[in-house]
Order: sequence, then structure tokens, then C-alpha cells
Amino acid sequence: MSSILPVIHQAPLPLDRFIVRDAPGAEAIEMDVLIVGAGPAGLACAIELARLAKREQEGGGSLGELNIGVLEKAESLGEHNLSGAVVNPRAFSELFPDLKLDELPFRQSVPDEAVYFLTEGRAQRVPTPPTMHNRGFYTASICEIVRWLGEQAEGLGVNLFAGFPVDALLVDGQTIRGVRTTPSGLTRDGTPGSNFTPPTDLTARVTVVAEGTRGALGQAWREWQHVSSPNPQLFALGVKELWEVKRPLGAVVHTLGWPLPPAAFGGSFMYPLGPSQVALGLVVGLDYHDANLDVHELLQRMKLHPLFRRQLEGGQLLEWGAKTIPEGGYYALPVRRSGHGVLFVGDTVGLVDVPSLKGIHYAMQSGMYAARAAFAALKNGDTSARGLAGYDHMLDGSYILDDLRRTRNMRLAFKDGLYVGGFKAGLMTVTGGRFPGGMIAMEEDARTGRVTGTPTPFTPDGQLTFGKLDAVFKSGNATRDTIPSHLIIGRDVHPEVADFYSHLCPAGVYERVDNELRVNAPNCVDCKATDVLGPRWTPREGGSGPKYRAM
Ligand SMILES: Cc1cc2nc3c(=O)[nH]c(=O)nc-3n(C[C@H](O)[C@H](O)[C@H](O)COP(=O)(O)OP(=O)(O)OC[C@H]3O[C@@H](n4cnc5c(N)ncnc54)[C@H](O)[C@@H]3O)c2cc1C
Ligand code: SF4
Repeated sequence: MSSILPVIHQAPLPLDRFIVRDAPGAEAIEMDVLIVGAGPAGLACAIELARLAKREQEGGGSLGELNIGVLEKAESLGEHNLSGAVVNPRAFSELFPDLKLDELPFRQSVPDEAVYFLTEGRAQRVPTPPTMHNRGFYTASICEIVRWLGEQAEGLGVNLFAGFPVDALLVDGQTIRGVRTTPSGLTRDGTPGSNFTPPTDLTARVTVVAEGTRGALGQAWREWQHVSSPNPQLFALGVKELWEVKRPLGAVVHTLGWPLPPAAFGGSFMYPLGPSQVALGLVVGLDYHDANLDVHELLQRMKLHPLFRRQLEGGQLLEWGAKTIPEGGYYALPVRRSGHGVLFVGDTVGLVDVPSLKGIHYAMQSGMYAARAAFAALKNGDTSARGLAGYDHMLDGSYILDDLRRTRNMRLAFKDGLYVGGFKAGLMTVTGGRFPGGMIAMEEDARTGRVTGTPTPFTPDGQLTFGKLDAVFKSGNATRDTIPSHLIIGRDVHPEVADFYSHLCPAGVYERVDNELRVNAPNCVDCKATDVLGPRWTPREGGSGPKYRAM
């Protein structure tokens, strides 16, 4: 047995790649506001902004028509979005006050809820912690939500550019002037092929970055601008499956305990999506200690537990996918989420409440605040950091920050393991977050040492359990084989590190072959776990990656 410290083997963030000082090309497309990422945050921002502009125009205001563009790396809206999901409808109600709840893109209301503590063969029902109550909420597919929000945005005149990943922020001095998209049609060695399309530059007075979890642009901007946070951001990896089932699931189910080792933080979810579909997933904090821990494989083992087997047997796997979740909470929020010509919203900032596993309504709400701040700044003719600072004020005074403050140390307590963490989390709930006083200091996930050992073999049966290649097939990923690798490998990746990466990546991108690391880059589903603990992720040609339909 030996130990791996992931940070030693990581390549540094390629700052020069993401922050580009070139003047925009002569052919640059000019917009008023550009939004990077068509998730709930980016689309809520676009909708709110388009409405504000329309109202202003109808009132004879001076601003005139606003050109709003949303750039999304997936080929079609929703294909790169993955969530649980139980949705708190609060932000929807604010954005669509004229719509009734049954007109929103949800599958069903939460019928009942149950939390279980699992051992290998048994499930002990435990009282639902107050942070995990979901009554009054709705189950949904985030892909469907995103497609629906996209239609609303388009109806308001927003320009949606799907299949256009943003490669870099274009800067002039300290100001963000716009973005550059990735080229497409490169051959494996990085040279232009017969279908080569060069990058496109787009400029805007305000750029709203809504790129989701572990965003490369957000990381680069914070490093460049020296924007810190009290604690580093922490991440979890969620692996999720969508099943067609024979019998309806009568409750929103969460589990703790098995199959996770006690030193790992995480749990599972199983949500009903109408009478014949179930969403099932396992979420594990990336500060785990066992180098062989494999979240995809743990989810497969978990399905053999009677609690899940009963529900899934006779059913069929429809889709599979994976994504990271920013888990650091209140103390991991950057002290500033706005700058000259730029705003950051949703998961790229870390607006997720981990005890309740909620981020969708915070993402949408922050997008709406960004729209209001951008609109005010455009009206006042001041899109500098000072002109856009209203966004930070709105966020600081919002229910989002109140919620995150209340659970500020809960995830952090679990660095001591499940039992001590569970006990402390109970005290935090009772005291409304006041126990244990100050901040529990954390280190980056990549600075947690991993103990190597011999993994326990697992053979999928192809009925209830699946290997990684079958899983990637079920993600709809059809990235062309000849694409250059978008993953930057770091230093001294010795065989044990290669093994660690192969367990870490849910999509089988990394393999140890003859003591060397082999990288099957086209398999990547953009979960970003690799960027947290292993090789760096960078944007690649539009339309690569998964094609989720109802995750
Ligand atoms: C397994 C799991 C379960 C969850 N369960 C729940 C739940 O039950 N309830 C809940 O409320 N929340 C849940 N969450 C959290 C929730 O899904 C997120 O908080 C929310 O989706 C964040 O929205 P966003 O718009 O910030 O980011 P995203 O939804 O990730 O959207 C970001 C978009 O930006 C695009 N993008 C990224 N980089 C680029 C680029 N360079 N160029 C162009 N486009 C780019 C992406 O493709 C994506 O479409 C869960 C998350 C996971 C992973
Ligand atoms: S290579 Fe990295 S980002 Fe891609 S699927 Fe694997 S872990 Fe996720």
C-alpha cells in the first residue's frame, strides 16, 4: 500500500488559454449581452433580461433593442445537463408569475419521502432530517426544463447558439470584452482537417458566465483577478441512471451508508418521474481516501441491494450520465462574483445547498439577479465592476445566501467521516447553523491523500448492472474518434496514478495499459471530476460529449 497526493500530478490551469488578450477578430459578432451556458442559470438570465428590455422598449425607454446571445457547448439544448432532480419551484414562480405550477416543465409533485440508512443487506428507515424535506416540491428532468426554458427565451427574441463551446474570455486590460469559441474539425494531432471551422469571436458589453460546475472560465477569471474564497471549493461526483420500471415509485428516497466506506461523504437518491420512470443516482464527495473508490461501480453494486433491486427488476436502463456538484457551500463562495464587464451565476459560483441537494432554483434566481444588474448597468452606461456590483449586493441579500449560511458547516463536518459528521450535522440543524461557531477549514480535494490497495473485482451482469463502456453508450455520446484530446495530463503519472484515474473517471476515459496511462478522450461526458483530481478538462469542438435526453 502507498499513498497518492493528486495535486502533485495535476497540470496547472492553462490561464493563457482561457484569458486571451487578442483584439476581437474583424469578423467578430457584436452583441449587447452574451451568456455562456444554456443551463437553468443562463436561460433564466436571458429570459429576465429579454423581458426587462421589452418592457423598457414598450415604455419608450432610451436603451433600444438589446441583442442577447446564449452560447451552449451541447449540440442541442439540454444534452449536457444532468441533475436529480427534485425542484423547489420558488424561482420558477418568480420568473413565470402568470403560469400555474402544472404548466411548468415538471414530471410530478413529490408524493412522499423516505430516508434510509443502508447496510449491505438491510435498509433502516430513519427520520427525514429537516434539511431533506421535499414536500411541496416537484420531480423533473433538467434536460426537459432546459429545453422548455430555451423555448421561452427564443420566444422573447434571445439568440441561442447551440453547439458553440466558449474556449476563452477575450480581455482588454481588466475588462471582459467577449468570448472566443472553440474551433472544430481538428484532426487528432491538432491540425485543421477537411471540415475545419475556425473559432468565432463575439463581443458584448456584459458577459454572463453560466458554465455550471467546475467552470474553466470561472476558475481562470478568479485566478487572474485574484478573487479568493474563505475555503476552497469542494466537489462531489454524481453518477445517475434513468430507468423504465414496471411499478411506480411512491416516494422520493434518499439513502446514507452502504455502499460507501465510512470515510467517504455521500449518499444516493431515487426519484419517481411519473408512473413508469425512476431516476437513480449516487453522489460521493471527491475528498474520499481510497484510491480504488469508483463511483460508477459503487452505483452498480448499490442496485443489487434489495431496496433498489425490488424497484428496478424487470425494468430497463434508459440513460446513464455523470456530473460533479460544487459542495463547498457558503465558505467556498468567491468573495466577488462580478468584475469589469462580467458576471458569474449558478454552479460556477457554487450556489448549491448540499444537505438538501438543491441548486436549480438558486441557479435560476442568480441568473435573474444578473439580468437585473446587467440591465441597470446598460441603462446607466456603466458596465465596469462598479456598475455591475449590484449583482453581488442582490446575491448577498438574497434567500440563497441565507440558506447557504444556515448549512455553512454541514458538508465540512463530514471530513471527519460519516458518524462524527452526522452527529455534528444534527447539532448544526438544531442550532440553525450556529454550532460549531467559526468556519471549519478545508483543503482542496486534490490535496487529500489517497491510499492505494487491491481493488475488489466486480463483474456487471448486463441486466441490472453495467460496465463503463455500456454506460457511455447509454449517455448517447457519439463524439468522433479522430478528435484531438481535450485533457491535459500532468506530471509523473506513474502506474498507480493511472489506476487512480481509471477508477475516478465514470466514463472509462483512463486506462492503465502496460504501466502507461491510455486516454480515450472521446468517451468523456464532461463530468469534470478529472479537472478536480486529475488531468485538466478543456472545452472541445461543439456537439462533442453526451446527448442526454431526460436526465
Ligand atoms: C447528480 C446531481 C443531482 C442533483 N440533484 C439536484 C436536485 O435534485 N435538485 C436541485 O435543485 N439541484 C440538483 N442538482 C444541482 C443542479 O443540477 C445544479 O445546481 C444546476 O443544474 C446548476 O445550473 P447551472 O445553470 O449553473 O449549470 P448547468 O446546469 O450545469 O448548466 C451549465 C451549462 O453550461 C454549458 N457550458 C459549460 N461550459 C461551457 C462552455 N465553455 N461553452 C458553452 N457552454 C458551456 C453546459 O453544457 C451546460 O449546459 C444536482 C446535481 C447533480 C450533478
Ligand atoms: S475524463 Fe474527466 S470529465 Fe471526462 S468523463 Fe472522465 S472524469 Fe469526467
